[in-house]
Amino acid sequence: MTTTASATLPLLLEQVEVVRVERLSPSFVRVELGSPALADFGVDGPLYDQRIKLVFPGLDGLPDVTGMDEAAMQAWFARPAEERGHMRTYTVRDVRGSGVATRLVVDIVLHFGDGPVGPGAAWAEEVSVGHRIVMMAPRRGSAFGGIEFVPGAADRLLLAGDETAVPAVASILADLPPDARGAAYLEVPLSADVQSLAHPDGVSVTWLPRDGAARGLALQQAVLDHLGAPLVLPEVEEVDPDLWETPTYSSSGEEIDDAVAVVGHDLDGLYAWIAGEAKVVTALRRALVNDLGVDRRQVAFMGYWRLGVAMRS
Ligand SMILES: Cc1cc2nc3c(=O)[nH]c(=O)nc-3n(C[C@H](O)[C@H](O)[C@H](O)COP(=O)(O)OP(=O)(O)OC[C@H]3O[C@@H](n4cnc5c(N)ncnc54)[C@H](O)[C@@H]3O)c2cc1C
Repeated sequence: MTTTASATLPLLLEQVEVVRVERLSPSFVRVELGSPALADFGVDGPLYDQRIKLVFPGLDGLPDVTGMDEAAMQAWFARPAEERGHMRTYTVRDVRGSGVATRLVVDIVLHFGDGPVGPGAAWAEEVSVGHRIVMMAPRRGSAFGGIEFVPGAADRLLLAGDETAVPAVASILADLPPDARGAAYLEVPLSADVQSLAHPDGVSVTWLPRDGAARGLALQQAVLDHLGAPLVLPEVEEVDPDLWETPTYSSSGEEIDDAVAVVGHDLDGLYAWIAGEAKVVTALRRALVNDLGVDRRQVAFMGYWRLGVAMRS
């Protein structure tokens, strides 16, 4: 194992290099990010929906994060995002290679036709081999967090997401045991964005291309159909762009019963993991938890982004 210069931090804060770029489809760019420091990347168990942070070069250019300790990292974070670079959240779609040749695969959505393009999508549109970027990722042996898929003893899975959640669902499907059962629904901008994904035989995968239809409707309908509920969605006006309601965390401050949260999910054996545009996910949450009475401990609802709102840097 290598020892990197920033080994004083319990995470990897590293410059990484783009070693491969692949335009997967009209809406997805796949990048492979490499650095000798990634020899120290790792988590305790499957990656599932492991998230990482990417920092896109700002006015200051690419920062030298080598050897930063906690105080230096906090001082760097405190700088204006325009100068130090905008930070965005992505999913580890896959890990390739090993040791100093380890590469993390990240699939980035290009969001055209939806208003202003943010720094993440803009970077992905232009990226080529040799570009460098800063990454924050789990260091093997240290707690980093960032895995929300915790099905416990559930025997039936429901995975649902829009294009930004495709990498997470794909990674979860790849990590599931072969006897897993359930269904995954993935809404993507175009038919041409449909991918071939590895998944257990007992988990069906349904792609829902919008092809110009309204965002979120097909996903909401599929989830409610799956649960045998009519398509009656509550009107959602106020949306928390940081919506994050999981069995162990509530962005709205709902009380969480820790004792039960870790035990598992026994109501019908269902565990639902739903991520995507915050308004779409909020409507689903209200339908499932308020109207259908699904226990909040059986579901993770995550706003991965909010239409018209730049994510916090
Ligand atoms: C845990 C987690 C994992 C994620 N994993 C991935 C991933 O693997 N791949 C991925 O591409 N995204 C992923 N996302 C979503 C990603 O972080 C957001 O889409 C982010 O806003 C992209 O940053 P940006 O700089 O492109 O746009 P921002 O600067 O944040 O936003 C600029 C504008 O673009 C709009 N916008 C942002 N995203 C989209 C979109 N997808 N479609 C249409 N308009 C959009 C915003 O509403 C805003 O108007 C993840 C988010 C979370 C929380």
